[in-house]
Amino acid sequence: MSKFWSPKVRELTPYVPGEQPRERLIKLNTNENPYPPAPGVEAVLRDFPADHLRRYPDPESRALREALAREFGVEVEQVFVGNGSDEVLALAFQAFFCHDRPLEMPAITYSFYPVYCRLYDVERRALPLGGDWRVDLDAFTPGSAGAIFANPNAPTGHGHGREAIAGLLERVTESVVLVDEAYVDFGGESAIPLVERFPNLLVTGTFSKSRSLAGLRLGYAVGSRELIEGLERVKDSFNSYPIDSLASAIGIAALEDREHFDACREAVITTRERTRTRLESLGFRVLPSQSNFLLVSHPEHDAAQLFVGLRERGILVRHFNTEALSDWLRISIGTEDEMDSLIEILEGLCR
Ligand code: PMP
Repeated sequence: MSKFWSPKVRELTPYVPGEQPRERLIKLNTNENPYPPAPGVEAVLRDFPADHLRRYPDPESRALREALAREFGVEVEQVFVGNGSDEVLALAFQAFFCHDRPLEMPAITYSFYPVYCRLYDVERRALPLGGDWRVDLDAFTPGSAGAIFANPNAPTGHGHGREAIAGLLERVTESVVLVDEAYVDFGGESAIPLVERFPNLLVTGTFSKSRSLAGLRLGYAVGSRELIEGLERVKDSFNSYPIDSLASAIGIAALEDREHFDACREAVITTRERTRTRLESLGFRVLPSQSNFLLVSHPEHDAAQLFVGLRERGILVRHFNTEALSDWLRISIGTEDEMDSLIEILEGLCR
């Protein structure tokens, strides 16, 4: 505690992200992509003229926003970009959720949302999840400061289809509904086609997962012009937006390679389903997932002990230290070889 901290900062508990270990472990703890980014990304890194870095980037990040607009079939004015979707989410909290009413979110969802609530003085109302820990869309109410959830949800993995999201948007019309699609490319259904119909829908996405660029920090939001303008009002001058020139060029190269994108996400989906079957045959309960991770628990083995056992044998998964999730492990989907090693070790630990 420091006397220099403002009263609010004294109360904050910093968000603790998944460990980035120094030693060589099989890393299945932060939902990164096990495959490299598109080959075009490598070409940009090789050929990017260093002299370009002398200048500030395009203040509107036009080229990257145009590439995203083409990808999603929307106008460029409907696209916002930021340094990772975490930053886009932070700006959305400031632009849309600071009211004298609570913001609604599922009781179990991306753990950064409650952190942002504390940071931006937003009251939070946690909504109970439905069966199989699915997000209960009927629980959101029209009178709140807004709604936010990940779809597919994290760390549970289940995703709702577009029509279900449309049903929520028919009811909640007076505040922003933010659908975080960080994991949508692994079998979910994007709500982006709904932005024309619902001016209060903001969809966020990231290059960190399905585009294999977590180290770059590139995220985006798609919505109506009025929501994008709201985000522009709260952004920094040359820090969060525009995106730096090199990241822009890399993002565009990643978007251009549809074949690589499809091959990587299909590989992750195939490995996920294979891993699910193998975990079930070891007695694990595995929640249905449309993401690049599985949330699993074992009726006879303590999750914290399994976490330690795996780590000692060179595999890092995620164990959350919260009451609701203490019986569960979240396992990111790696390569086939990495998952073979995981299963082999679990066979030993669960004997
Ligand atoms: N949303 C969800 C649901 C996530 O799990 C993550 C990554 N941990 C993010 C957003 C943030 O992703 P990034 O900042 O890398 O774009």
